[in-house]
Amino acid sequence: MDIIFLGTGGAWGVPELNCDCLICKEMRKNNEKRERTALLFSNKTSLLIDCGPDIRSQLSRNGLKAIDAVLISHEHGDHYMGMDELFAYKRNVARDLFRPIPVYLTSKSWEIIRLRFEYLEQMGVIKTNIMEPNKWFKQGEFDIFPFKTEHGDFAKGSVGFAIKTKNRIGKEISLVYTSDFMDIPEPTPEIVHPDYLIIQSFWLNEPVNNVPHHMSFQRAIPFIDRLKPKKETYLVHMGDADMVPNDPANNNAKKYEPKDPLRPPTGGEPYPIPLDQEQWQNTVNQIMSDQGLPYNVIVAYDDLRIEMEK
Ligand SMILES: [Zn+2]
Ligand SMILES: [Zn+2]
Repeated sequence: MDIIFLGTGGAWGVPELNCDCLICKEMRKNNEKRERTALLFSNKTSLLIDCGPDIRSQLSRNGLKAIDAVLISHEHGDHYMGMDELFAYKRNVARDLFRPIPVYLTSKSWEIIRLRFEYLEQMGVIKTNIMEPNKWFKQGEFDIFPFKTEHGDFAKGSVGFAIKTKNRIGKEISLVYTSDFMDIPEPTPEIVHPDYLIIQSFWLNEPVNNVPHHMSFQRAIPFIDRLKPKKETYLVHMGDADMVPNDPANNNAKKYEPKDPLRPPTGGEPYPIPLDQEQWQNTVNQIMSDQGLPYNVIVAYDDLRIEMEK
């Protein structure tokens, strides 16, 4: 079983259009980018998690010939606006061979998404399946458990997923993906102790006022410690909204002041805001080691592919 991180960026991707902040400048200089977050689980069959505006290039550069099912985590544009691209999977197989792609989402998410994409169902491209939080369901060789996440009033249908499957040598693998969130209102035993955890990390530091209801790495640390992944933790949905000291772009509306920035336990200056992939990974390693936490946290990047065979 493989996981491909098709995209690992926030709602507008980074570097962001029209942004000259120090983070975006550094990423452009290094030729780095993070497209909108989407994941692909590839086993005997494939499971796409979220289908945002970058999905066309994400799927084509990974050469994906078929999608067996799609999970939509919530009704924000960066997680579903690419659904029309699924049409290509119907258009390019023989008429009598195509079966509509099952799309799983909560009723609250479908209420919003159907206003734009109900025609995909009417034209036989997708078949929607309403999933209920805290109820396991099966799709192919995957057992899936959606759990409610708190992600603000504009994403009332928001869920994360616990997923179980067997790898190629028949060993069971469990994984939790939080999607976008700032809290898990009713944590259940199903989401604790997964082998792998994929968690949002939109900022490094928790902002003064977390209006967009996202997860910072600072806020994620106690969640990682509560969910206790046995193997790796991967960070996704990174943005550029932390304020970098002396950046003229700190006045931009999207930039957030930290509430009480992460700093070494012995005191001193806050950890520097990471500008690129390498700095993100180094900072995260330093923080985990300074805090004496035993978790292996990997900052995911676009097209990172993980084989889960052990
Ligand atoms: Zn998002
Ligand atoms: Zn969102």
